[in-house]
Amino acid sequence: ATPTAVMVATGVGANNGVLIKGGDALERAQKVKYVIFDKTGTLTQGKATVTSAKVFTDMDRGEFLKLVASAEGSSEHPLAKAIVEYARHFHFFDDSSATKDGQNHSKDSTMPEWLFNVSEFSALPGKGVQCFIDGKQISVGNRKLMTECGIDIPTHVENYVIELEESAITGILVAFDGKLIGVVGVADPLKREAAVVVEGLGKMGVTPVMVTGDNWRTAQAVAEEVGIQDVRAEVMPAGKADVVRSFQRDGSIVAMVGDGINDSPALAAADVGMAIGAGTDIAIEAADYVLMRSNLEDVITAIDLSRKTFARIR
Ligand code: ADP
Ligand code: MG
Repeated sequence: ATPTAVMVATGVGANNGVLIKGGDALERAQKVKYVIFDKTGTLTQGKATVTSAKVFTDMDRGEFLKLVASAEGSSEHPLAKAIVEYARHFHFFDDSSATKDGQNHSKDSTMPEWLFNVSEFSALPGKGVQCFIDGKQISVGNRKLMTECGIDIPTHVENYVIELEESAITGILVAFDGKLIGVVGVADPLKREAAVVVEGLGKMGVTPVMVTGDNWRTAQAVAEEVGIQDVRAEVMPAGKADVVRSFQRDGSIVAMVGDGINDSPALAAADVGMAIGAGTDIAIEAADYVLMRSNLEDVITAIDLSRKTFARIR
């Protein structure tokens, strides 16, 4: 392709909300053999909603939600935002916790006053969050996090979590003061175009793959819904880059599509890194492409554009 053709293609991309960082990136996309998708926020809307909140002690439900939301309050993770949103709603609209002055406080709900003060907050990518409330440690996240904290998961709790996971719901475990006290179920629906895009890639001779830090059962349920056969679950951020490299080993050109901080090593390792526009800045920086509309159809647009520009019939 001539420099003019590359310039024109870059302009066509930009008009469609596909930002391409340079001619090399544009050229590599035509040869893509595998597209590895992150799950949360990439294949799914990343606008998770809480589907259940189960307390396994005699703690009050409102108190439980307030604790969990306080711990998640400083996290940027889509799961965290869903939990805070749900707890906020519960706090302001549930009768048992309604304020006595009769005013509608929902307008002030961006103010964090209804949450507990937390100290020593830490976010553990791929696992969850941890902090102290009232001198007691609270851990909110997956099994890995509980194991790390030495928290025992009783059989009836484990069974409940499995039940959630089999219906594509992520069960978030909550431990307080050394004891497992509850589980929050969070569902994150697929983007509307996800299944069509996965099918379209297949027709183009490109193999779709899913990689996620989420657990195997939820991952498999989501993959089945979207039509992806090859799933890698319970993968830590550094592991996502290893997955990319494993597909590159035979010389294949690999694209990675992701939105999170945890995807940036994989976006950088991929031959073609594509960041979701609505994602975090770190992911956008690590990528060669930015999909401004956050629409997965643009993965196909990008590959098509490259193929047409370099006119390689395969
Ligand atoms: P993905 O790879 O699908 O984008 P992540 O790597 O961000 O997922 O997270 C993997 C898992 O770690 C989540 O499914 C969840 O169980 C747990 N996790 C991560 N961050 C949080 C958080 N802030 N609160 C609760 N759980 C979390
Ligand atoms: Mg993600």
